[in-house]
This record gives sequence, structure tokens and C-alpha cells, in this order.
Amino acid sequence: MITINISSSNHSQIIDITHKVTKLIPKNFNGICHLFMQHTTCAITINENADEDVKHDILKMFDVIAPWNKDFFKHYEGNSAAHVKSSLLGFSQTIPIENGLLKLGTWQGIFFCEFDGPRTERQILVQFFTEQKI
Ligand code: ZN
Repeated sequence: MITINISSSNHSQIIDITHKVTKLIPKNFNGICHLFMQHTTCAITINENADEDVKHDILKMFDVIAPWNKDFFKHYEGNSAAHVKSSLLGFSQTIPIENGLLKLGTWQGIFFCEFDGPRTERQILVQFFTEQKI
């Protein structure tokens, strides 16, 4: 199993990891790439990679949905907002690959989303599955 190591520098942060995934794809590979995280306060999503403001706006909206309010939640760690945001986005993504290239849309990138940082030891497990020709 291949692992991508990520560290975050802010409490909440969206980091483009498209290039890290692209580097791992075998030459001329056809199939799918599966990304999975064993964490509970960060997520993986796919969204626009052109305008940096999109990342800002996503984080801002998530703060409206799940504000960092320890008095509102019961969880003893005080980081329920991070758990909620992570579950809303999810801990995995699957992306098709054709001839060694991710089949992302023109404006799409793969993003690691930190909701309880900064952290130095975030890991994404990466697996490639070969396409079965029918
Ligand atoms: Zn917790």
C-alpha cells in the first residue's frame, strides 16, 4: 500500500494534493485510484482548483454549518465541529485513470481538508485498481 504523508499548518485548511497523487500513477495505467484516510477530523474532496477563493469559501461555509463551539457539543475532546465537517465531506475518493492520467475535469483538483490542525502526521492510503477490459 502506498501512503501520502501530509502536514497542515492551520487549524482549518484545504490543501491541493493532485500533484502528489499524479506522481504515483504507473505509466500508461488504466483503472481507478482509491484514496482513503484512517482519520476522523480531516477529509478528502474534489473541487475547483482555479480560484483560491473557493477553498476559503468552503471553509467559511463549514464554519457556519459546524461552528467551533465547545459548549454546543457533548464530545469531551471539544473537536466535534471537525468530526462533523469530516463526515460531511468523507474520508475517501475514487478517481478514474486513463493512459496514466487522472480523468479529472478541467477545473477539478483533489484536496485534503484539515479541520483540526495543525497536524504533522496525516496520511492518505493510495491504491490503484486495474481496469478489467470487457
Ligand atoms: Zn474528537
